[in-house]
This record gives sequence, C-alpha cells and structure tokens, in this order.
Amino acid sequence: MKKLTILGSTGSIGTQALTVTEKIGWGISALAAGGRNITLLEAQARKYAPEYLAVMDEAAAKDLKIKLADTNVKVEGGADAVNTAAAYDADMVLNSIVGIAGLRPTVTAIESGKSIALANKETLVTGGDIVMKKAKEKGVSILPVDSEHSAIFQSLMGVPNGNPYKILLTASGGPFFGKTKEELKSITPADALKHPNWDMGQKITIDSATLMNKGLEVIEAVHLFSVSADNIEVLVHRQSILHSAIELEDGAVIGQLGTPDMAIPIQFALTYPNRMPSPAPKLSLTDIHTLTFEKPDMNTFTCLATCISAIKRGGLYPTAANGANEKAVELFLREKISFLQIGEFVAKATEACQNKKVFTLEDVFEADKLAREAVLSYIK
Ligand code: NDP
Repeated sequence: MKKLTILGSTGSIGTQALTVTEKIGWGISALAAGGRNITLLEAQARKYAPEYLAVMDEAAAKDLKIKLADTNVKVEGGADAVNTAAAYDADMVLNSIVGIAGLRPTVTAIESGKSIALANKETLVTGGDIVMKKAKEKGVSILPVDSEHSAIFQSLMGVPNGNPYKILLTASGGPFFGKTKEELKSITPADALKHPNWDMGQKITIDSATLMNKGLEVIEAVHLFSVSADNIEVLVHRQSILHSAIELEDGAVIGQLGTPDMAIPIQFALTYPNRMPSPAPKLSLTDIHTLTFEKPDMNTFTCLATCISAIKRGGLYPTAANGANEKAVELFLREKISFLQIGEFVAKATEACQNKKVFTLEDVFEADKLAREAVLSYIK
C-alpha cells in the first residue's frame, strides 16, 4: 500500500486529498496542520491512523496529544514538527499548507528525497528558483495540484521536450468580474468570500476575488514549466471548464477540460501517469453549451499586473508581492483595510522591495517580513 503525508490536512485541499486517498487505496503516513481545528485533526487521526501528527501551534499540539493518548499516533508541536512530518517516511508528500508557511516544509520534503504533490503555490512564488533547483539536484518530481497547472501539465504530456509553446492560463474572474473600481469600493469580506465556481479556503478565495491568485499562478507556471511570463496569456473563462491549455507552434491548442472539482487534479498528482475512477462528476458539454473567453481587466484588478511585473523583474520581487498580499488579505478579513487597498498595498510594498538577483532561503524570509511590515506601515 502506498502512503501519503498531507501537510495542511484540515484545509479545503487537505480534506479533499484525504477523501481521494481513501478512494484510491492509499494509506496515510503523517499529517500536519496549523492547529486552529483540533477537533477535525483528532477525527482525522482516528480515521486515517497516521504514524505522526504535527501541529504548528504548540498549545493545540498539547491538547491533541492528550485527546489521542489512547492511540498510537505520535503528536508533536511547532515548526520543527511540521518539518519532521514533511521528511517522514512516505511515498509522497502533498503540501496544502496556505501561504509562505509552506515553503520550508516543501524544501525539507525535497531534501529528504520525497516527490511532492504541490498545492501550496506560495512555495514556488517565493522560493521557486531555490526549490526547482533543489528538486532537480535531488531528482524528485514536483507534481502540480493547482487545477490550472495540472491542466498545463496534462496538456504537455505527449509534446516532445523542447517544443516551444505558449500557456493559456484560464481564470474564473472571481465574484467581481466586470465591476468598476467605483463598485469595488464598498466590497466586504462576506461579499469577497463568495466564489462563483470553487469552494476553497479563505485566503485563496480573496486572492481569486482580487485576481492575485491568477498573478501567483503566472509566477508558479514560470517556475514549474520554465517558461517566460511573456509566453503566458491569462484568459477569463467564467465557466471554469477549460482548466488551462497550451498553444503549439503549428497553432494547435491542447487543453484539459472537466467539471470544477479539485478531486481530479489532486488524484492525478498522486496516480500520475496512471488514471483511476474519481468521485468528481463527469462533464456534460451539452449541458454547458457555451464556453466564453475574455481578457482580464488589469487596471481594475491591479494585483495581476503587479505579479506579472514582479516575475518579469525576478529576484525577490515576487516574494515581496506575496508577503504584502498575505498581510493585506489578513487585514482585509479583519476589516482593517478596504478591498481596493489590497491591490494598492501589494503594488506599493512590491515597489519598495530591496531586490537581490542571487538569494538564499533566509533572504526570501527577510523579504517576506519586510513586505508585511511595509503593509502595516501604510495603515498607521
Ligand atoms: P485552507 O485555509 O483551507 O487550509 C490551509 C491548511 O494549512 C489548514 O490545514 C491549516 O491548518 C494549515 N496551516 C496553516 N498554517 C500552517 C502552518 N504554519 N503549518 C502547518 N499547517 C498550516 O487553504 P486551502 O486548502 O484552500 O489552500 C491551501 C493551498 O492550496 C494554498 O496555497 C492555495 O493557494 C492552494 N490551492 C487551493 C485550492 C483550493 O481549491 N482550495 C486550489 C488550488 C490551490 P488549520 O487551519 O487547521 O490551522
């Protein structure tokens, strides 16, 4: 039986990944989470019987250890424990932690020689150069879980290496597609947390509403597929049926379509290159009737433009954009700043980045910290 470690097991992707493992007959080696939901973690530990369970929050880890005292699950707390989970003996690690908190565990998993199913896009946005180089050195695969990148990955299967291609990266457009800046002034967290097609964690739902998510995905694609940002075109596709495509030199466009259900890309990252039945509903194109494609409005949704400019400049700019966004989203959810200020602050903090062309992991964490501090300074 194959065994999977899931980092971020209590989240939207983590819980769906656990269901997928049941359907495909994989066991669970280790689990990790932040600690905000120990009731769910306890239930997961009892149901899936991991050998090791890491909880970022030390106090939550202590509580959970007591709750699980009648089981064989070893529970530990803190950042070191999350890294221990990442390196724990397993066939693969699925990283679905949210934010830059996922970066070090990804690096740890690679260093311990584990293939990675990567949902945590912030890993590549902030540490892409370092992570991809390390993965190559260690000979480990990074399989995309993000539906768009999974679609690109699937589209590329069968295309000989070295063939030039352009990426057509699709975006749902989020709940505010077509709205003007004036109309976005009064958006509340409750409005922004309603996504038309996907049911996801809070942070990525806000990122989808600002189009920051698409900006992060452009950066993720640059690293995963070694393409230049100039060869990525973002298309707003409201139905979320074409999950992304590639355009080849001869004009052929190859894409992957399916119902908007994360079970498909999660499962394919685990079973690649094989296919298995999935719980996702089948696509009926005759029910869908129409697929539409439009250009994104980057003047209104400025985060996308900021991310594209950041990856074109390279270095630590993408890290700064990401760190500023993580802080700004947190402040927006706490109703400390407005919806439009997210984009404003992300652009401003990215511009303020003290860039380095050659950098270490420590430089990445420092740039992240400075960007967060910059955002906080804008509201003082
Ligand atoms: P959620 O907020 O639903 O879940 C995040 C998970 O990470 C939770 O289990 C949380 O634990 C855990 N976590 C947070 N901080 C830490 C930490 N420091 N150490 C260990 N665990 C931690 O997020 P999503 O599942 O929506 O997204 C996860 C990642 O996947 C993001 O990078 C997102 O961009 C990406 N993604 C998500 C998609 C989706 O459909 N949701 C689609 C494609 C990509 P707890 O809350 O229990 O404290």
